[in-house]
Amino acid sequence: MADLLINLDALKRNYLKLAGMAPGALCAAAVKADAYGIGADRAGPALWRAGCRDFFVAHLEEAVALRPHLPKARIYVLHGPAEGESAAYLAHDLIPVLNSLPQIDIWTATGGNHPAVIHVDTGMNRLGLGTDEVAELIDNPDRAPFPVALIMSHLACGDEPGHEMNALQQARFSVLGEALRDSRKEAIPLSLANSAGVLLGANYHFDMLRPGIGLYGGNPLTEGDNPLEPVISLQARVLQTREVRPPAAVGYGAVYRVSGPTQLATLDVGYADGFLRAFGEGRWVPEIGGHKAPIVGRISMDMTIIDVSAAPPELVAPGMAVPLIDGVDGIDRAALATGLSAYELLTLLGHRYKRSYVETNG
Ligand SMILES: *Cc1c(COP(=O)(O)O)cnc(C)c1O
Repeated sequence: MADLLINLDALKRNYLKLAGMAPGALCAAAVKADAYGIGADRAGPALWRAGCRDFFVAHLEEAVALRPHLPKARIYVLHGPAEGESAAYLAHDLIPVLNSLPQIDIWTATGGNHPAVIHVDTGMNRLGLGTDEVAELIDNPDRAPFPVALIMSHLACGDEPGHEMNALQQARFSVLGEALRDSRKEAIPLSLANSAGVLLGANYHFDMLRPGIGLYGGNPLTEGDNPLEPVISLQARVLQTREVRPPAAVGYGAVYRVSGPTQLATLDVGYADGFLRAFGEGRWVPEIGGHKAPIVGRISMDMTIIDVSAAPPELVAPGMAVPLIDGVDGIDRAALATGLSAYELLTLLGHRYKRSYVETNG
């Protein structure tokens, strides 16, 4: 089986690095989608040991699954409650993110004393209360009688530092978020920044950061060097090797034909593992001991064939591990090469691999 190596020490260092960029703010962690594919059951406790106390997931089910691993953490659910789900939120001590007036009503029906987050839309038009709905809450605080744990919004274009949406959303959030906060009796923290927002600077930090991708080693910005450490690397195992001579075709569709004597190795990883066909056709070139080992032919469901003619034979015997994605910016380079985002790459990987975790003092 292919191995996904996950460095929880690097995850913790990335957390501390991002948190350190805004010393006055709390630093939460986005651990939705099984912590972007690396395993929320391991990433969550590792982040807790690094000092993180606030965790965001997307679904109620994700939060319920995470709770036993983080018994004392504040766990927020980004999608918020549907009708009939409130009891589960209370049973597992979860904090819903309320994204609309109907969700606010659902939560109010729990009795008015359980904390919730209010999400204000500032231009993304995905989730969150619009300006009119915020005005309605400001005029009628009793519409939301429960304690508000946090007021948040989300950046649409944080990864592009020069994008005009950033300043616009920052300004809207300052006005709307602060007006809503000031209309209520409690002192309520504000939160706008995902990983990219952390890097955009102090204006974007407010009281709580919510990084995700940066924790897992992806570059939060589309330009410039990645200030964060890689967390994952992917290795496949050699199933068998063979030498072929022309005329010979390789793999499904016989789309690749060798042009000379060629040493092939078949690896135990394919698109069902998240190693999509987008890696094929010359877009991604693995290296073995510093020698290029191009992917040849179509990537299959469970296997990939590489040309190891240039690689040292002692590194490609059956059973040996071959690095497929690794190095300082492996995820970022793979994203660039395949046209997928680092988010897609990470969340696709990891379901079928043997995950191996490294953590000192875990
Ligand atoms: C996913 C998500 C984050 C984290 O975003 P990154 O770009 O991965 O840092 C923060 N806030 C919300 C609302 C999210 O959905």
